Amino acid sequence: MIYENILEAAGNTPLIRLQHMTGKDDAQILVKFEAVNVGASIKTRTALGMIEAAEKEGKITKDTVIVEPTSGNQGIGLALIGAVKGYRTIIIMPDSVSEERRKLVRQYGAEVRLIHDAGNIGDCIQECLNTALRMAEENPNVFVPQQFENENNVRVHYEWTGREILSQADCTIDGFCSGIGTGGTITGIGKALKEANPDTVIWAVEPEHAAILSGKEVGTHVQMGIGDGLIPGILDQEIYDDITIVTDEEALQTARELAAKEGLMCGISSGTNVAAARRMAAQLGKGKTVVTILPDTAERYFSTPLFEA
Ligand code: PMP
Repeated sequence: MIYENILEAAGNTPLIRLQHMTGKDDAQILVKFEAVNVGASIKTRTALGMIEAAEKEGKITKDTVIVEPTSGNQGIGLALIGAVKGYRTIIIMPDSVSEERRKLVRQYGAEVRLIHDAGNIGDCIQECLNTALRMAEENPNVFVPQQFENENNVRVHYEWTGREILSQADCTIDGFCSGIGTGGTITGIGKALKEANPDTVIWAVEPEHAAILSGKEVGTHVQMGIGDGLIPGILDQEIYDDITIVTDEEALQTARELAAKEGLMCGISSGTNVAAARRMAAQLGKGKTVVTILPDTAERYFSTPLFEA
């Protein structure tokens, strides 16, 4: 089979059972390995969903400039789509996210504007958003997908990622956990899983220094892509049953273990998710199934503490 372009090959990522990271009395953990998605992250799905919905609704034309504030992967996904579909794309990012992200966005032919992160990721993301909205006010050709507010972000995970997981798993899914960036993943997949089994337990996962849902102070942390220091508009706060907090060290250590013990070369927030999934697996116990997401590849973290051990 021949694809007309790389975007047609997006999705359909493997669901993999962890072999060496669960105790003998624990639930099994199944991980959705998004590092092998097109664009090497889960965010290609949402970038495609938001842009194709806007195309259908007539919100963008060939002269449109796509401008998006993002802590990284959404920008890479949009830059990739801009390359394939021929849209000029400008990505506005905190200067605290990994250098690899900037380089990848530029390599896809998009432009990068950096906003200084002075120690509060929430303030910085807000400034990225304000900059994008100012550009939209000044230029009517600018389209800002607004991933934190865009319901197509949730829809994609509900209709696509969530259903993919349900069709791949050969058993009841008893638990699901996910870190929150825009909240699209947890809200969309959570809804799909709870529809299939209302008893599925869902945990939101927060970085220690951005545990805003837990009422904690927001600072800086290394779990890029989650814990952006704001409560996103599309996050359904009713979808999760509990919240668990993961430290930077635990996230890094778990991501390193995923590579060394399971051959799963994934990013820091994958470590966050699996650290939480292990707690859930211990709590639910043998015979149960916990699912979580590995959102991106380790290869965009060479310049970060992930590779410093
Ligand atoms: N991990 C990484 C590496 C990400 O880029 C994102 C997306 N921001 C997430 C997790 C969280 O996904 P979501 O935005 O759907 O909450």
